[in-house]
Amino acid sequence: MKQLVLSGAALMLLVQCNSPKEDKNEEMTENPVAFELSNIDSTVSPCDNFYKYAIGSWQKDNPVPATEGRWMSFNILAENNREKIQGILDESLKAENPAKGSNLQLIQDFYKSALDTNGRNEQGFTALTPFLDKVAAIESREGLNDAFATLRKTRVGTPVSFYVGRDAENSEEYIVYASQAGLTLGDKSYYLNEEEKFQEIRAKYVEHVDGIFALAGRGEALAGKTVLEVETKLAQISWDRKDLRDADRTYNKMTVASFDSMLNNLQVANMLKLLGLGAADEMVVRTVSFYTDLDSLMNEISLEEWRTYLTWHVFSGYGSHINDEFEQKTFDFFSTTMRGVKEMRPRKERILRVVDGSLGEPLGKLFVEKYFPEESKQYMSELIENLRGAYKQSILNLTWMGDSTKDKALKKLEAFTYKIGYPDKWKDYSGLDISADNYLQNIVNISKHGFEMMVDKLGKPVDKDEWHMSPQMVNAYYSPSGNEIVFPAGILQPPFFHPSFDDAINYGGIGGVIGHEFTHGFDDQGAKYDWNGNKVNWWTDEDRARFKALTQALAEQYSKYEVLPGEFVNGELTLGENIADLGGTTLSYAALEKVMEGKEDPMVDGFTWQQRFFLGWANVWKGNITDETLRNRILTDPHSPAEQRVLGPLANLPQFEEAFGCAGKAMVKPDSTQIKIW
Ligand SMILES: [Zn+2]
Repeated sequence: MKQLVLSGAALMLLVQCNSPKEDKNEEMTENPVAFELSNIDSTVSPCDNFYKYAIGSWQKDNPVPATEGRWMSFNILAENNREKIQGILDESLKAENPAKGSNLQLIQDFYKSALDTNGRNEQGFTALTPFLDKVAAIESREGLNDAFATLRKTRVGTPVSFYVGRDAENSEEYIVYASQAGLTLGDKSYYLNEEEKFQEIRAKYVEHVDGIFALAGRGEALAGKTVLEVETKLAQISWDRKDLRDADRTYNKMTVASFDSMLNNLQVANMLKLLGLGAADEMVVRTVSFYTDLDSLMNEISLEEWRTYLTWHVFSGYGSHINDEFEQKTFDFFSTTMRGVKEMRPRKERILRVVDGSLGEPLGKLFVEKYFPEESKQYMSELIENLRGAYKQSILNLTWMGDSTKDKALKKLEAFTYKIGYPDKWKDYSGLDISADNYLQNIVNISKHGFEMMVDKLGKPVDKDEWHMSPQMVNAYYSPSGNEIVFPAGILQPPFFHPSFDDAINYGGIGGVIGHEFTHGFDDQGAKYDWNGNKVNWWTDEDRARFKALTQALAEQYSKYEVLPGEFVNGELTLGENIADLGGTTLSYAALEKVMEGKEDPMVDGFTWQQRFFLGWANVWKGNITDETLRNRILTDPHSPAEQRVLGPLANLPQFEEAFGCAGKAMVKPDSTQIKIW
C-alpha cells in the first residue's frame, strides 16, 4: 500500500486495503446469483435498519474467520482472485530458465525464495546488516540526517518522508513532496489517548519492541520504553488525519533553499541529494509545522535514543519477513493486539499475499490475460457514460448551485477520463534483481526498486498511462491530478458486476462504485481541483459557502453513528468518502431510472427494480468486523464502516424511502433534513 499513498495529490480509494481468507460461495460459480435471498434477515424491517435487513442472515452465517480482522464481500472476491494468482504462481515454477529480468523470472525466483522456509530461517536478518550498520554509525547530526533520508529508500520508517508525485497545482509536472511520518502504530491517538484500552496497547507495544530486540540478540535496555517515548514526541507534533486530507493546508510550495533555511538541524537539500532528488529546486511541504517541530526534536532527543528508534524501525519494517519467530511476534502484536485477529494464515497463503503485493503488475498481466473478459470493458464503458449522463442532468438541476459554477462543474465532468481492467502500458521491472535463494534480500531489492522508479519520474513528462493499483485488486480509485477514475479487473466481477445480472443489481453494485469515484472529483477536497487536475478555485464564493454548509451537515450526520460503546464515526475524517457514497448511490439510481424508462418492471424474486437497486448496494458492503479492527479503522480509515456506508446515504434518499415505504421510519431522515449534494 505504501506505493499508493506516494502519488502526489492523494488518490481517493474505494476501500482501504485489507487482507482476506478463503470461502466458497456464489461468487465462484459459473452462473452467479445476482442477489441471494438467503442473505435477508426478514425479522428486521428494512425501514428500521436496511443493512441488517438486506444482509443480516449472511452476517449470522459468516462470522469473521479466526485469521481475519474483518470479512466482507471485498475479501471474498479478493480471495477468489488470489486463488487464480496461486495457479499462476504454481504454473510459473514449470518454466525452465526464464530470461533474467523477465516477468517470469522475477515471479518464479521470488516465489521460490519465499517457499524456501529453511533458507529464510537460516539467513535471519543478514540482509539488514547494511541498515543496522548505518544506524549504529550515527555519531553526529549529519549521520542522523543521512540515516533519516537513506533508510527511506527501503521500507524502513523514519520521521521524514520525501516522495515524487504530480504537482497539485501543475498536474503536467512532477514535484517532490515532504510529509510527516515515523509512527509505528499508525495514528497519533494510539500514543496520546489516555483511555485504558490505549494504555493497554501502549504497554503491549513496549513489550513487543523489547521482545523483538531480544530476538535479535541485542542488549539495548529499555528499548521499548525509548521507542515509545520518541514516537510519543513525534505524535505530539504530528497532524491529525482529518487535517492531512485538506488539499489547501497541505499545499505549501517553496524552494528547497527556503525550506532548508527554516530548519537548523534537518538538512533538506542534502537529504534530497542522497535520495537522488538533488535536481529539485522547488518542493511542496505538506506539514510545515511538523518539520519545524521535528527540527527541534533533533536536539531534544539524544543520538542514542534516535539510534534505538531507528534500529527498531529497521526490524519492524521487515518484521514479518525475517524468519518464523519474527513473523509470529509481529503477528501477535500487529494482528492480534491491534486488530483482533486470532490465528495466522497458513504459510502458503501468507507467501501468496507477499508475492501478490510485491509483484502486482507482473502477476496482474498474467491474471488479465487468462481471466479478464474483454467484453467487460464495453459494458463498463456504457455504464460509465450512463452515469456521466445522469451526473450532467443532476448538475443542471441543482438548486443550490449558480449557473457560472455549474458551467465549470460540467466542464470538469466532461473532462473525466477513465481506465478499465488493466494498464495499456505495463511498468518495466527489468532492473529489479531477484534471486531464488535469498528471500529477505529480494524484499529489500523490491522496496529499493519501487523507490528508484518513483525518483526516476522527477523532471520527466507525467506518465498518464500509469496505474496506481494492480489489475487483480478489488478496489477502484479517483486521481484528482489526472481527473480520472480507474476500475481494475479485480472488482469487475460478482457481487459488484456480471453481464448476466439484472440492471438493478449491476447499478446498485458497480454503478454505485462508478458514481462514488465520479463524486470524488466533487467531494470536499476533489472539488478543489479543476478539469485539468489543477488545484484552483473554480467556484463562486456563494456556491462554495452553500456547498460547505451541505457537507458540514453530512459530517454531523455521520459523527452521530456510535459504532462501539462510546466510540463514534469521525464525520470529518470520513467526509470525502461519505459525500462520494451519497453521490454514488444518487447518481447510479438516476442512471438506472433512465435505463428502466418505458420498460416493464422485471420484478425479480418479488422485488421491484427500485428495491433491487438498494439490495445490490447493501450486498457489496456485506461484512463482519472484530471490535479491535473496527476501533483501528475509525481512527485511521477515511472510509466509514460498511454498515454506515449503507445506512448513511440511504437515510438521505427519498428514492429509498419510496421503494420500501419507509416514510417517517427510523431508517430515513425527515424530508426537511435529508441532504442532497450532487
Ligand atoms: Zn472513495
